[in-house]
Amino acid sequence: MIYDAAIIGAGVIGSMIARELSMLDIRVCLIEAKDDVASGASRANSGIVHAGYDAKPGSFKAKFNVLGCAMMKQTTDELGVPFENCGSLVVAFNKQDELALAELKRRGDANGVPTQILTGAQAREIDPMLSEKITSALYAKSAGIVCPFSLTIAASENAIANGVKLYLNSEVTDIARKDGVYEIAAGERDISARIIVNAAGLYSDEISKMAGAEQFIIKPRKGEYIVFDKEMKARTNNVIFRAPTKLGKGVLLAPTVYRNMLAGPTAQNIEDKQDKATSPDGLKKVLNSVIEYVPSIERGKAITVFAGLRAKSPTHDFIIGASQSADNFVNVAGIESPGLSSAPAIAQHVKDLLVSLGLSDKKDPSATRKREPIEVFANATLERKKQMIASDKNYANIVCRCEYVTEAEIIESIRRGARTVDGVKFRAAAGTGRCHGGFCMPRVMDILARELSKDYSEIQKSGKGSRVLTGKTKEAL
Ligand SMILES: Cc1cc2nc3c(=O)[nH]c(=O)nc-3n(C[C@H](O)[C@H](O)[C@H](O)COP(=O)(O)OP(=O)(O)OC[C@H]3O[C@@H](n4cnc5c(N)ncnc54)[C@H](O)[C@@H]3O)c2cc1C
Repeated sequence: MIYDAAIIGAGVIGSMIARELSMLDIRVCLIEAKDDVASGASRANSGIVHAGYDAKPGSFKAKFNVLGCAMMKQTTDELGVPFENCGSLVVAFNKQDELALAELKRRGDANGVPTQILTGAQAREIDPMLSEKITSALYAKSAGIVCPFSLTIAASENAIANGVKLYLNSEVTDIARKDGVYEIAAGERDISARIIVNAAGLYSDEISKMAGAEQFIIKPRKGEYIVFDKEMKARTNNVIFRAPTKLGKGVLLAPTVYRNMLAGPTAQNIEDKQDKATSPDGLKKVLNSVIEYVPSIERGKAITVFAGLRAKSPTHDFIIGASQSADNFVNVAGIESPGLSSAPAIAQHVKDLLVSLGLSDKKDPSATRKREPIEVFANATLERKKQMIASDKNYANIVCRCEYVTEAEIIESIRRGARTVDGVKFRAAAGTGRCHGGFCMPRVMDILARELSKDYSEIQKSGKGSRVLTGKTKEAL
């Protein structure tokens, strides 16, 4: 079979494009190197829906950020993904910071994003725990927070329900073109398609080169984070940024849609596209920064740390467009921040671009933009909880005791595609709480092994090579 379009990379960009194309009466596939969607930058980022005042006026970043931010509420409503329009504050501590705020306000005005300069006292009225040392702040009401991996998972689920074929464990290693059809070597399979969309994140430079399209270099820039417990008293309602300096945007402090607090990221240019290690120095920098904004942050309330890798674009802007040298090949590359915020708008733009290249725009009458989320037992009313248990006794078995995740939700996440411990964690939240899987991981593994008819020892944490068990201790002795 020849696909009308093949999308390489199932991050938020590839998945949202797949969803958009799934509304058309065409054959589409989504090709992912790893064993799950949202395995790259879309798994590990700040989850901020930026308002759009920061991007250089006239850039792709400015255009798609502003549009994407405006589309996020409807998109997340349709996909059943947590989103909150909480607002953001860029805080200033001195005159130089205040000049930076004025520049951001000018950019916001040029990008059509309403912002407001507040005094320190006005900022503390909105967010009472902010430091007394804050002299001024830029307030953007339209900013928000979203769960980045849920958005990716939901978009791909919606696309698959509408007929898109997802190929996991299918790293693209070669691309050739014969008689107007691309032959894509992807893992153990060969895939044929008339059009390729390159949404391979950090590796989009390699995919573009493979297809004989534009040559550019994508470099990784690491960002380290600390996640704080939901019960930490030091909280903010808004996303808090530090006024940008010559060294960059700095570290942010934000609530997550799950009520944790998130601090980060650092910004470190590195060479290794696989290096997601955190470091004592990086984490210390994160902690020291956010304590400046909210002095009452309790360092003992940190529950986990992680790092994500930005796909640094050589042009400092998104690289989006049809190739000039390879026919029917579209790059959606170098999608660094605010790529998550821009994703809904980028997806629509790419669909229109593909149609201009000759893709049929005939609608698929059976396609839907709606996707039902997994019902969260912990959030249900007592009455509803009783109904859920009556309909399925697996709701009566709490597996993750920090987040009150039931066996029924874990089984549902496996039915929807989770194949690893992390696959369950990102779909059903088991293992996201205070003990971070210390208690429930063996139980989640049990359920995965049973539901997938696998041996317990075959269950992986997060893809190839991440085995949890390597043997029995007595055998090892
Ligand atoms: C630290 C950090 C903080 C950020 N914070 C924000 C924020 O707050 N707000 C915001 O708007 N944006 C933010 N971003 C940016 C946002 O995360 C990205 O723009 C977005 O996730 C990019 O999505 P993507 O689909 O292009 O890339 P990815 O999510 O990286 O997806 C690319 C996919 O391609 C796959 N792939 C690669 N090579 C191949 C191959 N050869 N064959 C098949 N598949 C392949 C990868 O496995 C991966 O799954 C942040 C990014 C980082 C790293």
